[in-house]
Amino acid sequence: MDLIWLSVYEARERLRAGEISSEELTRACLERIEQVDGQLHAFLTVTADLALEQARAADRRLAAGERLPLLGIPVALKDLFITKGIRTTCASKILENFVPIEDGTHARKLAEAGAVLLGKTNMDEFAMGSSNENSAFGPVRNPWALDRVPGGSSGGSAAAVAAGEAPLALGTDTGGSIRQPAALCGVVGLKPTYGRVSRYGMIAFASSLDQAGPFARDVRDCALALEVIAGVDPYDSTSLPDPVPSYLESLDAGIKGMRLGVPREYFVPGMEPGVEAAIKDALAVLEDLGAELDEVSLPHTEYGLATYYLIAPAECSSNLARYDGVKYGYSALDQQGMWDRYLATRGRGFGPEVKRRIMLGTYALSAGYYDAYYLRAQKVRTLIKADFDQAFQRFDALITPTSPTVAFRLGEKTDDPLAMYLSDVCTLPVNMAGLPGISLPCGFSDGLPVGLQIIGPALGEAAVLRVARAYEQATPWHTRRPALAVEAGTR
Ligand code: GLN
Repeated sequence: MDLIWLSVYEARERLRAGEISSEELTRACLERIEQVDGQLHAFLTVTADLALEQARAADRRLAAGERLPLLGIPVALKDLFITKGIRTTCASKILENFVPIEDGTHARKLAEAGAVLLGKTNMDEFAMGSSNENSAFGPVRNPWALDRVPGGSSGGSAAAVAAGEAPLALGTDTGGSIRQPAALCGVVGLKPTYGRVSRYGMIAFASSLDQAGPFARDVRDCALALEVIAGVDPYDSTSLPDPVPSYLESLDAGIKGMRLGVPREYFVPGMEPGVEAAIKDALAVLEDLGAELDEVSLPHTEYGLATYYLIAPAECSSNLARYDGVKYGYSALDQQGMWDRYLATRGRGFGPEVKRRIMLGTYALSAGYYDAYYLRAQKVRTLIKADFDQAFQRFDALITPTSPTVAFRLGEKTDDPLAMYLSDVCTLPVNMAGLPGISLPCGFSDGLPVGLQIIGPALGEAAVLRVARAYEQATPWHTRRPALAVEAGTR
């Protein structure tokens, strides 16, 4: 039995039955990291000793009959979830040596559910990017083709799950950063409704858009993980008070008679033919499963990208003002005056994309431009949301591609920010409307995975998961594994 490819659900059954131990499972993941992460660079920090200690503690609790939802399951966290005593860098030089003094809600809930922490995953600096090439510590490579990007910004989490380094990882999604890398790495990634999961302890990028969610190799594992991390949090006033349903219970209800909309505008120019073909095949599968499909129009989709690139940078410029070298993070101590030190700290600490966003956002918010840019973008955001509201009067869920292309080559888009931004054209509107969306494997184009996106109404995670599960059960795509060379001690 190959422990590294067990799903969370299967591993949990075997742990409970005493067929495997958490220590064995954790060692298998750590060994896999040792063997393949030198090539992938999915992890920024591996907490091997801590993981083994937690695994042994989990084994003792399992032996005593305890049944927590993730007891003994190894997980990885994107390196923007704060973790007590464990370096949390946001893949930025400015936080290179930042060691949080407490766990955020995500790390705490995972620990309370009995999970074992394998380490912290690589990402685009401050979650700004779609390829992981903006990490200050070097890019992640796609397990399906090492010359390709894994997507971003949660590229490390997606690659780790795809490569068998971890059965479960958390990421965050501000404009597509869970769904797009899930698509490009051939795994399942779920962005919940804004507010479904707390943001407390997530280093902020754009606070009205950021949302945490799971990566796993199948839909059921995402449902299971969501049950653990969702729920109201007194530390996040935007977290929703609605009770968390059992997503696992409704998972296998099937989709007979469900109404699924296919938004015309998501079949964008520039979409790769192989991607389009895979999505069309997926639509046929959903229809065969008894769903009723119909085309729908979301007319303001074309403004999504422009709107996002005003709102997200505006919020980023405000959130990132806190990195001044005074309270934490890198400080240019060789500079004496206050201003000189601020300038040098931020000038050296932030990478080029982060600076670009701060400048864009500061411009959009400045006196004289606020009304023309930021305020206007907020109004268009409302129109984008209204399109979705209208569509969900007719449909239970919407089906789209996750990304117009498969994984592109490293370096291919680094000189053209606009081409890079276009990667998220199908995912950004979902964040602006605050809706849940999942990406799951739906085929291959040129040997690289293609992702199918399913979008639900607010708090419609159960419906999204149910459609995804029905599709997954009818197709083989989620069972494919990348053929990675195993090298002894490459890390
Ligand atoms: N790629 C988008 C950006 O660069 C989205 C990032 C994200 O979702 N964190 O902003």
